[in-house]
Amino acid sequence: MRILILGGTREARELAGALTARHHTVTTSLAGRTSQPDRPPGRVITGGFGGAEGLADYIERARIDYLIDATHPFAAQISANAVAAAEATDIELLRLRRPAWPVPEPNAWVEAENAQAAAGVLPPGATVFLTVGRQGLAPFLARKDCRFLLRSIEPPEEQLPGFVTAIEGRPPFSRNDELALMRRRRITHLVTKNAGGRDTYAKIEAAFILKIRVIMIERPALPKAPEVGSVAAAMEILSQLPAPKRFVFF
Ligand code: NAP
Repeated sequence: MRILILGGTREARELAGALTARHHTVTTSLAGRTSQPDRPPGRVITGGFGGAEGLADYIERARIDYLIDATHPFAAQISANAVAAAEATDIELLRLRRPAWPVPEPNAWVEAENAQAAAGVLPPGATVFLTVGRQGLAPFLARKDCRFLLRSIEPPEEQLPGFVTAIEGRPPFSRNDELALMRRRRITHLVTKNAGGRDTYAKIEAAFILKIRVIMIERPALPKAPEVGSVAAAMEILSQLPAPKRFVFF
């Protein structure tokens, strides 16, 4: 089958590997935000489609049989586009979204509905480890009474004010490295998104150990779609797809 994976996550790469190993024709689509992304097996296209209509056009032109949305849990726009495009083209959609981190104990972290709310929770004078990506920084940049250590995979494009220090880092991160970083930078607060998964959880463990306050930005709501939480669960469903015809040459 011709399968389009909307990617940009470790799960999307693993799924592309598993499906190409089963001889499906797999195309992974990346938004193109990072200049050197980890490339999944199979074909890769980059740069977006032009909204839900553009995605539907692509699905028809490329004669895609099955759509998988394996994008990051905070990539709400492309997930909404996937639902609309699958409906418009009448193909099946499966969403692979890793489970959110559960609160380990009551009041372990402060939940914030979005970046604006998270920025509002910070007390004046806080030294904040900010791991929310390069986009959506505006509410934090308005907090001139705090200092920020911003970590992202690639440096922010915009010029940042003096109270923000930008560092680069690509997951996975180890607990010892996170502990050392937070100690060295005298962090008092961690602001992060509830991304789920194991690659970026070490900073939260480190924050608990150091008694650093954690502000957790909740996931955006997504339109309804058939959904699984792991690559294995996705493969259980996808292994029921008709196997592609294979030609054997003697
Ligand atoms: P978004 O806000 O949901 O999407 C904005 C636009 O970017 C979409 O309308 C689409 O443009 C394009 N786009 C997004 N993902 C795409 C994909 N996989 N393939 C082709 N086009 C895509 O997305 P975002 O939050 O900026 O995230 C962008 C990408 O980074 C996603 O693929 C996601 O998996 C990955 N990522 C995001 C985060 C995060 O925290 N948001 C973290 C790690 C990785 P068109 O309308 O032109 O098609």
